[in-house]
Amino acid sequence: VIEIGQPEHSVVTTCAYCGVGCAFKAEMRGEEVVRMVPYKDGKANRGHSCVKGRFAWGYTNHKERILNPMIRERIEDPWREVSWDEAFSFAAEKMRGIQKKYGRDAIGGITSSRCTNEETYLVQKLIRAGFGNNNVDTCARVCHSPTGYGLSQTFGTSAGTQDFDSVEDTDVAVIIGANPASAHPVFASRLKKRLRQGAKLIVIDPRRTEMVESPHVKALHLPLMPGTNVAVVTALAHVIVTEGLANEAFIRERCDWSEFEEWAAFVAQPKHSPEATAILTGIDPKDLREAARIYATGGNGAIYYGLGVTEHSQGSTTVIAIANLAMVTGNIGRPGVGVNPLRGQNNVQGSCDMGSFPHELPGYRHISGEAVRDQFEALWNVKLNPEPGLRIPNMFDAAIEGTFMGIYVQGEDILQSDPNTKHVVAALSAMECVIVHDLFLNETANYAHVFLPGSSFLEKDGTFTNAERRIQRVRKVMTPKNGMADWEVTIALAKAMGFEMNYNHPSEIMDEIAALTPTFTGVSYAKLDELGSVQWPCNEKAPEGTPVMHMDGFVRGKGKFIVTEYVATDERTGPRFPLLLTTGRILSQYNVGAQTRRTENVVWHAEDRLEIHPHDAEQRGVREGDWVRLTSRAGETTLRAEITDRVSPGVVYTTFHHPDTQANVITTDYSDWATNCPEYKVTAVQISPSNGP
Ligand code: SF4
Repeated sequence: VIEIGQPEHSVVTTCAYCGVGCAFKAEMRGEEVVRMVPYKDGKANRGHSCVKGRFAWGYTNHKERILNPMIRERIEDPWREVSWDEAFSFAAEKMRGIQKKYGRDAIGGITSSRCTNEETYLVQKLIRAGFGNNNVDTCARVCHSPTGYGLSQTFGTSAGTQDFDSVEDTDVAVIIGANPASAHPVFASRLKKRLRQGAKLIVIDPRRTEMVESPHVKALHLPLMPGTNVAVVTALAHVIVTEGLANEAFIRERCDWSEFEEWAAFVAQPKHSPEATAILTGIDPKDLREAARIYATGGNGAIYYGLGVTEHSQGSTTVIAIANLAMVTGNIGRPGVGVNPLRGQNNVQGSCDMGSFPHELPGYRHISGEAVRDQFEALWNVKLNPEPGLRIPNMFDAAIEGTFMGIYVQGEDILQSDPNTKHVVAALSAMECVIVHDLFLNETANYAHVFLPGSSFLEKDGTFTNAERRIQRVRKVMTPKNGMADWEVTIALAKAMGFEMNYNHPSEIMDEIAALTPTFTGVSYAKLDELGSVQWPCNEKAPEGTPVMHMDGFVRGKGKFIVTEYVATDERTGPRFPLLLTTGRILSQYNVGAQTRRTENVVWHAEDRLEIHPHDAEQRGVREGDWVRLTSRAGETTLRAEITDRVSPGVVYTTFHHPDTQANVITTDYSDWATNCPEYKVTAVQISPSNGP
């Protein structure tokens, strides 16, 4: 414990971990944080927080933090500390050289859901205007890109429908592929409070999660086999339609009736019944029928889902199927209901809103739209390329083929977090210029030529947008230790590349975002300071924001029912790989652990373990705490075993917080058909005893 005395002043800012977006008062003594106090007026957290936000900010001062820019000609060379100017010149010369040699489209970049809206907006602007192509993608590609696709197809907008307050009006909560008790703890507390008041809970998850095991909460758990989400949600729809539980009045008023009829005929087929799909899904048909009846008739039904829905080869299909379920029961467009993606990272929603996709400008407008391009071209004073650029996996493929040779990665460890590590290593090794902009020398930096030190959330001004579309201020509480704010780094890199961007403060970047984005026209730092936060759309029609969407009609007009045919993943079990691996998180760690592992407290150091059902463990001679080798078609790793019936026979589970675990060494290249979101949640594996790593 470091004694630094009583605080002298405090600054309200926003947690940089998960998509709940808790507001905190950073109590300061000079440049030192004395403590982080959950802010009682924070609209997402109302004075609450979890251990990560409250106690895991010490990474800002961690000794491994890199504070000076570094360069090297080849990745075999040692790093050389240089001035910022030399680093920018070196990086720009390499990137321009690549474009000269391989063409304009041979470089690109990746934005981060950890960074602010303003920083993300600038990176996509640098790439579109400075690089001259649309090779920009976001780390949301590997988590919630199917949410964007699925909800825009059905409802017309790429975002969750409710605010968190809405849970107080919920009578039936359905959680699919999410474990908010670990990953979104403050929201989980609000939900549990409502459950203790009598609301019902249905959990669709291969694992008996903490939500199911939570004391005083009686959940109906549907333990599906990984990869069968679409079959399960379609079976729920089958029960609703065939038992006459559809909300016909709502559908006639709010949805396209002929599309509904086509969809209803599809789900009503006997092959979609709970009984017909039971062997596939592993779910007792009685439980599935009961769940459908409770959701359809139990009052306000709200669906909350996470990466257990999106990170599948049918991730987008499942999001669409969930939207169908909400529409058929009329559970949309009022408090207490809706379709609510629980976003993993603090600014997943914002990074998507800010135009980080290769086909979309800020506000989800397609790059091919001439009128939209005209607006950006006029303000940015450039000619934009109308062709969509490369997604992250396409960038990797193109690098291996020798046509994509330079990348700028801001705030994202792609080597540790993207699937099939061997493939990522091959891609990064093939590139001639990898620029990593981060706090620490992460795994990706092993393949980098330029390292630009980044700043932590405590050192920056900007905004994050949480899972409920709430835009909140991030306020600088200390001077950036690396000497340069992240938005200034991107501007300087752009200038070195020959493209000028001029802003004096992130508030001016937000003003530009508001000028160009119809859902943000009412957003300004002055308004955020006055109201505390606003939920987009915030514009002339809704000057104080929009807590609940689709109240009077869907954004796209009529809600669109879409037929969702279950297609089995190509990742199959068989004699060599008979078990299915799925993954998740623990409360005390965050994603790949880059921040939480660098916090001075042993609670953050829990290792990743492999949960195995007693039956599967016994068959393989594995006992509690033994080392086991986990092997897939892509690779292998070693973990300690935890024997538990939280998982069903045939299913194993691990977390992915430690680089030593290398969970992504074993995940495959399969991905969502619509968005390329990787299929992290289903990998066929085998387990064998091991002597350890
Ligand atoms: Fe931070 Fe999420 Fe915890 Fe809130 S619930 S303190 S946003 S990690």
